[in-house]
Amino acid sequence: MSVIDGILPDLLEQLFQTILCYNIFMLILAKPLQKLIEAFERLPGIGPKTAQRLAFYLLHVPQGELDKFATALINLKKDTVMCSVCFNISEQDPCEICASSNRDKSLICVVEQPIDILSLERTGKFHGVYHVLHGAINPLQNIGPDEINIAQLLKRVQNTTQPVYEIILATNPNMEGEATAMYITKQLKTQNPKIKVTRLAHGLPVGADLEYADEVTLSRALEGRREY
Ligand SMILES: [Zn+2]
Repeated sequence: MSVIDGILPDLLEQLFQTILCYNIFMLILAKPLQKLIEAFERLPGIGPKTAQRLAFYLLHVPQGELDKFATALINLKKDTVMCSVCFNISEQDPCEICASSNRDKSLICVVEQPIDILSLERTGKFHGVYHVLHGAINPLQNIGPDEINIAQLLKRVQNTTQPVYEIILATNPNMEGEATAMYITKQLKTQNPKIKVTRLAHGLPVGADLEYADEVTLSRALEGRREY
């Protein structure tokens, strides 16, 4: 018998015990707690242990606070709309940025997610408008150009009543973000060879998400953008 043959049954038994313990744990839990733990577990980055900790923590929170939390959750989607111009999430359509007369409509910054707008707005350096793709091209997850808002961007740029001078591609500096930027550039240049297409440059670490970048890094990246 090899060493692996000896270890494997042990590992399987450990795994079986863990699953058994978890099932027993869920069985003895009060139903409302169980439901909350299961709901937390569905959130990204939350494992069973964290879900349990959060649920038990909330038991100690005053009912009034819990009601406010629940109301915020219920109204999250009911009270928000997607901007029909830039696809940002807002309380109004068009969103505050698109509706503002202080923003330069000839300068469009293309981002993957609405949360990226918050990061760029924190720099206070950008006075143009945005276009949210709601994703990036990712062949491994079957996300092609048609699954994100690229066609809408091309249509927006084509609109002659609102001429666009420059497109800043602020997709994430990872493989998917780069592939998306390259695809958009090709499409934009085919449509209008004279359009200026730039890409965020210095400062952003490769492989990181825009969401986690600090203001200084993002400011430098914006200042150091180059023709793409
Ligand atoms: Zn908008």
